[in-house]
Amino acid sequence: MRIRTGDNVLVIAGKEKGKTGRVERRFLDEDRVIVEGVNLVTRHMKARPGVSQSGRIQKEASIHASNVLLICNKCNEPTKPKTAFLDTGSRVRSCTKCQEVIDDAR
Ligand SMILES: [Zn+2]
Repeated sequence: MRIRTGDNVLVIAGKEKGKTGRVERRFLDEDRVIVEGVNLVTRHMKARPGVSQSGRIQKEASIHASNVLLICNKCNEPTKPKTAFLDTGSRVRSCTKCQEVIDDAR
């Protein structure tokens, strides 16, 4: 998966197409992500001891990682990042549009 937690992504398929948001969680096994404010579903929670919220609550449901594109933090274009290697040997993602390195070297 090219997407990481904290990335800004654009939804390119499904009913939430065109929305952008920050990736909150990833499910690596299923190749799915939860994007903040995208694909909201209403859950009906029963009041129970230990449950802080009850009633109807809006919650994000996961979407498939192939339905989102990373938004480049350099050129602001949606991109499928490619893997690049710095002189230091660290692996980073780079933008296919502006060729800039997206990740800060860590
Ligand atoms: Zn870019």
